[in-house]
Amino acid sequence: MRETALKSVQAMAAQYSDGTLSHFIDGKPRDGAGTAFDVFDPSTGNVIGQARDATADEVDDAVAAAHRAFPEWSATPPETRRKILNKVADLIVARADEIAAVECLDAGQAWRFMSKAALRGAENFRFFADRAPSAADGLALPSAEHLNYTSRKAIGPVAVITPWNTPFMLSTWKIAPALAAGCTVVHKPAEWSPYSARLLVEIAHEAGLPDGVFNAVNGLGETTGKRLTEHPDIKAIAFVGESSTGSAIMRQGAATLKRVHFELGGKNPVVVFDDADIERAVDAAVFMIYSLNGQRCTSSSRLLVQRSIYDSFTAKVAERAKNLKVGDPFDKATEVGPLIHPKHLAKVSSYIEIATNQGATIAAGGAPVEGDGFYFQPTLFTGAEQTMRVAQEEIFGPVLTAIPFDDEADAIAKANDVEYGLAGYLWTSDVGRALRVSEAMDVGMVWVNSENVRHLPTPFGGTKSSGIGRDGGDWSFDFYMETKNIALAKGTHKIQRLGA
Ligand code: NAD
Repeated sequence: MRETALKSVQAMAAQYSDGTLSHFIDGKPRDGAGTAFDVFDPSTGNVIGQARDATADEVDDAVAAAHRAFPEWSATPPETRRKILNKVADLIVARADEIAAVECLDAGQAWRFMSKAALRGAENFRFFADRAPSAADGLALPSAEHLNYTSRKAIGPVAVITPWNTPFMLSTWKIAPALAAGCTVVHKPAEWSPYSARLLVEIAHEAGLPDGVFNAVNGLGETTGKRLTEHPDIKAIAFVGESSTGSAIMRQGAATLKRVHFELGGKNPVVVFDDADIERAVDAAVFMIYSLNGQRCTSSSRLLVQRSIYDSFTAKVAERAKNLKVGDPFDKATEVGPLIHPKHLAKVSSYIEIATNQGATIAAGGAPVEGDGFYFQPTLFTGAEQTMRVAQEEIFGPVLTAIPFDDEADAIAKANDVEYGLAGYLWTSDVGRALRVSEAMDVGMVWVNSENVRHLPTPFGGTKSSGIGRDGGDWSFDFYMETKNIALAKGTHKIQRLGA
């Protein structure tokens, strides 16, 4: 599989005259003239290739292509859009192993998760493709004197900016609804993992997407990303990434009044009451923090456990954390792969000192793994308090902080005592308590007695610093489309006759 991934990466690079992954503009690869930067294989630390930061001209050309393509694509019958986007899904399925392999190589994610992530990308396309014919549908809102009706139309060319943690799946999640709605797209994937997202734009064109409808530019956030979000012809920005980057993008887009949709950071609690199904709660808590190398926005990075079961529960989690198979992402048995980049490894590592200085105990892990690659041991901090930095800040690695709570009120107060509000997980066998605590949690999504299981028609997104807006179902279309109301008089109402 590593061989498959390397071949795929080389084939992408070979489309450019100097072998450096650059851009895909107006239906074809475009050599870049900007500064080149290295892309790593996080499992070895080796450089697998180089990509280029887009120049201002290259960004402008990508936006111009999207702008030119917009009138025709938005007017294309939705049935045609449906067919093309379903074809994209078919081609993703046909190349699922290659996509998964590139994701393992480029992002360091374990094969056991990535093989499914590529297929989820296909499902995202199918889901929104099949809804394209109803995307413009609105409401009839009759009044006494008028028939009001609403309908929607695509907002225009949009920018999609994605992070490095699960680049392919996340890109499909944002781009599929934009295309289904009739928008044209300029995508900027994360600089640390540009390859798997890059496969998507090729596949989309192979499926018959017209030139200019979907463009991709590589580059850094402060240059390529900034220019894209400031461009006057970009009408909306769909962004997934850190909360502080979301603020920067809002500032950058302010002058041109961009519509923004932000999916940002999280410090999600898993709250375990003493009446919970303990074994299942342990499974879910371990899965939700250590899967995807802990680089997951919905990871349950805070474990809030009722004091009466705190020691026994955290002991079970610690035992499982120590047993996790950390290793080569391509090994099918691997449960935890490497972190994405040496800088990220340094950031995650820095929390060990922060935690111990503030009095937390390392119950499992607590150090980088010796040897090649950017591996970090699955880590559990116990004896933690809500005020500690490891209980407040998004670490975005395989690091869990366990905090005891006394009762329902204390659990709710601690769950809500962070700047983030993406997801919450709750374990109890008391239905009334499940409802009370779910409603009191200040988050966008709650899973009760479950890990994160995504159902595409449901809304996805966070409160507070975790985001603005919702994805999924019709919420995605609402972001990528403008709603218009048309009021048709029945011809009977009185009109004031001024100046008569
Ligand atoms: P990041 O914010 O550093 O980068 C994300 C993207 O934004 C990259 O493509 C980057 O190049 C670009 N960018 C950076 N600065 C920019 C600027 N000034 N203007 C325009 N673009 C800019 O995030 P990351 O480190 O790549 O990803 C990790 C973060 O993503 C975590 O905080 C995680 O919680 C979040 N995330 C959230 C969700 C969600 O659904 N809420 C999903 C996945 C990841």
